Amino acid sequence: MYIITIDSEKCQGDGDCVEACPAAILSVVDGKAVVSGAVAECLGCEACVTTCPHGAIALQEI
Ligand code: SF4
Repeated sequence: MYIITIDSEKCQGDGDCVEACPAAILSVVDGKAVVSGAVAECLGCEACVTTCPHGAIALQEI
Protein backbone atom coordinates (compact mmCIF):
# COMPACT_ATOMS: atom_id res chain seq x y z
CA MET A 1 0.00 0.00 0.00
CA TYR A 2 1.27 3.40 -0.93
CA ILE A 3 0.53 7.01 -0.09
CA ILE A 4 0.68 9.28 -3.13
CA THR A 5 1.30 12.92 -2.32
CA ILE A 6 0.82 15.51 -5.05
CA ASP A 7 2.10 19.01 -4.28
CA SER A 8 -0.51 21.31 -5.79
CA GLU A 9 1.92 24.22 -5.65
CA LYS A 10 4.37 22.38 -7.91
CA CYS A 11 1.79 20.65 -10.14
CA GLN A 12 1.23 22.47 -13.42
CA GLY A 13 -1.48 20.09 -14.62
CA ASP A 14 0.53 18.75 -17.54
CA GLY A 15 -0.99 15.30 -17.11
CA ASP A 16 2.24 13.41 -17.76
CA CYS A 17 1.55 11.32 -14.67
CA VAL A 18 -1.95 10.49 -15.89
CA GLU A 19 -0.47 9.10 -19.11
CA ALA A 20 2.28 7.25 -17.27
CA CYS A 21 0.21 5.55 -14.58
CA PRO A 22 -0.36 1.88 -15.48
CA ALA A 23 -3.07 1.63 -12.84
CA ALA A 24 -5.01 4.58 -14.34
CA ILE A 25 -5.75 6.09 -10.95
CA LEU A 26 -4.57 9.63 -11.66
CA SER A 27 -6.52 12.43 -13.34
CA VAL A 28 -6.17 16.17 -13.87
CA VAL A 29 -9.06 18.05 -12.29
CA ASP A 30 -9.27 21.84 -12.49
CA GLY A 31 -5.68 21.96 -13.71
CA LYS A 32 -4.19 19.86 -10.94
CA ALA A 33 -3.28 16.16 -10.80
CA VAL A 34 -5.28 14.19 -8.28
CA VAL A 35 -5.69 10.57 -7.26
CA SER A 36 -9.09 9.85 -8.75
CA GLY A 37 -9.02 6.06 -8.60
CA ALA A 38 -8.55 3.54 -5.84
CA VAL A 39 -5.22 4.23 -4.17
CA ALA A 40 -5.08 0.55 -3.22
CA GLU A 41 -4.51 -0.19 -6.90
CA CYS A 42 -1.25 1.78 -6.94
CA LEU A 43 1.56 -0.54 -8.02
CA GLY A 44 4.32 1.53 -6.47
CA CYS A 45 6.06 1.72 -9.83
CA GLU A 46 7.03 5.38 -9.34
CA ALA A 47 6.26 6.16 -12.98
CA CYS A 48 4.33 9.22 -11.84
CA VAL A 49 7.20 10.37 -9.64
CA THR A 50 9.84 10.04 -12.36
CA THR A 51 7.64 11.36 -15.17
CA CYS A 52 6.61 14.59 -13.47
CA PRO A 53 8.95 17.36 -14.73
CA HIS A 54 8.09 19.50 -11.70
CA GLY A 55 8.87 17.01 -8.96
CA ALA A 56 5.34 17.36 -7.67
CA ILE A 57 4.65 13.73 -6.78
CA ALA A 58 6.03 11.73 -3.89
CA LEU A 59 5.37 8.10 -3.03
CA GLN A 60 5.56 6.48 0.38
CA GLU A 61 5.10 2.79 1.10
CA ILE A 62 3.11 2.06 4.23
S1 SF4 B 1 3.33 4.73 -8.49
FE1 SF4 B 1 2.73 3.87 -10.51
S2 SF4 B 1 0.74 2.91 -10.16
FE2 SF4 B 1 1.11 4.26 -8.40
S3 SF4 B 1 0.10 6.22 -8.96
FE3 SF4 B 1 2.26 6.37 -9.61
S4 SF4 B 1 2.28 5.70 -11.77
FE4 SF4 B 1 0.32 5.01 -10.85
